[in-house]
Amino acid sequence: MIEILDNPDYMGVVEYANNIDLHDFSSEIYSQNNLNNIGRSTNDDTLNINHSHESPNFRSRIRFLILHNTVESFEVALNDYFLNPGSVSAHYIIDTDGEIYQLVPTEKSAFHAGVSKWKDFEGLGLNDVSVGIELVNSGFEPFTEEQYISVGKLSKNIVQTHEIHQNRVLSHCDIAPDRKQDVSGYFDWHRFYLDINSDLAEVFEVSSEYEILYTDQEYDSQKIKNLQQNLCDFGYVLDIDGEYGEQTLNTMMAFNQHFCPEVINLDDPKSIENGYCYKLSCDRLEKALALLNK
Ligand SMILES: [Zn+2]
Repeated sequence: MIEILDNPDYMGVVEYANNIDLHDFSSEIYSQNNLNNIGRSTNDDTLNINHSHESPNFRSRIRFLILHNTVESFEVALNDYFLNPGSVSAHYIIDTDGEIYQLVPTEKSAFHAGVSKWKDFEGLGLNDVSVGIELVNSGFEPFTEEQYISVGKLSKNIVQTHEIHQNRVLSHCDIAPDRKQDVSGYFDWHRFYLDINSDLAEVFEVSSEYEILYTDQEYDSQKIKNLQQNLCDFGYVLDIDGEYGEQTLNTMMAFNQHFCPEVINLDDPKSIENGYCYKLSCDRLEKALALLNK
């Protein structure tokens, strides 16, 4: 790890070492900003800092991997947003043909998560502690085989390199359920978890049968409380108040998109807007919790 951090050319080169083919826009950013001494505290040679003692006691600051879909086409996402000064960004974008482009070095914060939170990280948003990957996809269509191969390989590498815990490999809507719908229910988390060797793949072996937790007329407050507690225990941040409010509803939507897309009728936009948030596969949520506590 020390070698990597001390390599003056380091810019996410771990990925190169593992033969992942990617375009690196970030090298231009490096030379523009004259930040060649990544891993050192300063790029001022006149400070004469002695590097002969290096503590072995450190870890990566990256704690999360967050997946997104662009909604826009590759060209629009890149030109109107990611390469546009003052706009948003992500560390990587994966086009529909599977090509991986690096836009921001992984040791820099990209602006992809915004106002966001997850268990134990409820303060300042997750940009400073995460890597963001954008997949070119409208949100209303399946992802391509090439994208799955690339995102699986890249994510596996990032998770290993930064020692990211398995319940911190998430979707944008998991960490900002009140604002975001990506990555969409079309993303196949089961396959992705298998590709990155995550235990959470086992969640999908449990029946997708769901419970109706709410009707227009009534809901069981204690049942909602239990559900809220389970969602919190997994990592979602929400109040445990027994109320079937907007926050709970949005969090259930996020959970369903991630762990039980069968609840959603993906071909019916109306069902996406209206229906599926009343239901949740409690068995899958319990299985996810059991796997975390294993
Ligand atoms: Zn997003």
